[in-house]
Amino acid sequence: MAEQVTAYKNFIAGEWRESEGGLFEVTSPANGELLYRAQRSTVDDMRAAIAAAREVFEMTEWRDDPNARTVALSKFSDAVRERHQDLATRLTRESGKPIAISRGEALRLAETTSYFAGLARWIFGRSQIPQPNSLSLIIREPVGVVGIIVPWNAPLALLARAIAPALAAGNAVVVKPASYTAGSTMELGKIFESIAEFPRGIVNLVTGPGDPVGAELARHDDVDMIAFTGDTSTGREIMRLASGNLKKISLELGGKSPTIVFADANFDRAIRGAINAASFYNAGQICIAGTRVLVEEGVHGQFVERVKEIVPKMKVGPGWEKGVEVGPVISEAQLAKVTGYIEQGKKEARLVVGGHRLTDGELAKGYFLAPTVFDETPPDARIAQEEIFGPVMGITPFRDLDEAIRIANNTKYGLVAAAWTRDINKAMKIATRVRAGSIWINTFGKMFQSTEMGGFKQSGLGRQYGLEGLFEYTELKHVNIQIEK
Ligand code: NDP
Repeated sequence: MAEQVTAYKNFIAGEWRESEGGLFEVTSPANGELLYRAQRSTVDDMRAAIAAAREVFEMTEWRDDPNARTVALSKFSDAVRERHQDLATRLTRESGKPIAISRGEALRLAETTSYFAGLARWIFGRSQIPQPNSLSLIIREPVGVVGIIVPWNAPLALLARAIAPALAAGNAVVVKPASYTAGSTMELGKIFESIAEFPRGIVNLVTGPGDPVGAELARHDDVDMIAFTGDTSTGREIMRLASGNLKKISLELGGKSPTIVFADANFDRAIRGAINAASFYNAGQICIAGTRVLVEEGVHGQFVERVKEIVPKMKVGPGWEKGVEVGPVISEAQLAKVTGYIEQGKKEARLVVGGHRLTDGELAKGYFLAPTVFDETPPDARIAQEEIFGPVMGITPFRDLDEAIRIANNTKYGLVAAAWTRDINKAMKIATRVRAGSIWINTFGKMFQSTEMGGFKQSGLGRQYGLEGLFEYTELKHVNIQIEK
């Protein structure tokens, strides 16, 4: 008998509910296999989830009980850690990404909830005597109902840094997962359901198309805040939708980040950093990808030669196969989009590695691209300005520090930047003059639960992680008490 394909239901008010909208299918981007189905929810399903969240926020003591929140989130963290292999396997099946990346992501969800579980008891305001016989209390309260919209490229890690602080701060949440990776998120519903300390309806998970289901969450008057991670153009739409009731917004959007290699750098570390951490991690489908690799003229030729040696040897394939470093891109649409950029790149720059789809043997069943490198990429080229979200690196030579900074800042984005140099003065100039929310010197991708990250310019609004990342999910209230003489 054929194995039954799972059909995930929505998790609303602590119950598993079907939608009248029917189901949609999720297939593997690595081999086309049907993996599961999920609810093609309607606007009414989303409204029911928002109503459930509102009711539980207003009617329970969750908002005023940091101890209960610490216990609930700690139990969730432990359960995710226990199930991390299973979650990772599911994530690799639905996204095709290497299993080691999926394992890291599931563990990151556990670590992030554990970190914010601790901070739940550390939400404080201030007090002040602003004039005689007058006491002011500045209190931090939860915002209320928080809508969270997550993309497919790192669905668990990106959900974690929104849902964990939102719950720690005492909010109720409604999550709209990305359709391509809905399953790994819906699995979390089972964990929330199993922990009695989470009031029923404090977490709601609703699948379905971004428009209208996610759009309703962004628009609805009873949602007090929307936390969105995804494309900059969608972020702009979210902002417009959220303007109806002037809800709070947190946006983590696109990037076109520079990786700057100076001639004095530790060459081997710089080259590994640029290749592994930047353009090809998660097949380049990561907002922090350092895809604009700026190389000082003195080492540019040598750099390109080493890239030409290393990159073609990277193993491409389904993430569940041993040794795979680069998986498929997420969908046929993404394959077409990235291929379009590669063809554009062939006109704008000099192709030195890859530049085509891989269709040998089993790879023909999936959306695999050869890791691709362009050299002599003009800073104003489309491939140097627009987020490609695929395994494509663009190398651009530069003359000196000032030129590197000018090119680094020459996009609408400002998410992260990395520089490799042994010169502390150059490092400090990069750190202070490059306009990005995170700067890495002689390293790449260091993100800790306790250190804030977020975008300058069109890479976003607000900060994730750390105390600031927690306070995003709070409102400040001033209470003044007149003392009778
Ligand atoms: P989106 O930004 O469109 O999707 C991210 C999330 O938003 C998904 O959950 C999506 O739902 C939802 N969504 C889509 N449209 C709306 C809307 N109008 N209102 C509310 N929610 C919405 O990314 P895509 O998946 O469409 O990818 C498009 C491009 O975005 C990619 O090619 C890539 O370049 C870029 N991207 C960038 C990311 C980043 O972190 N910088 C992350 C993801 C994508 P659904 O899945 O149902 O469509």
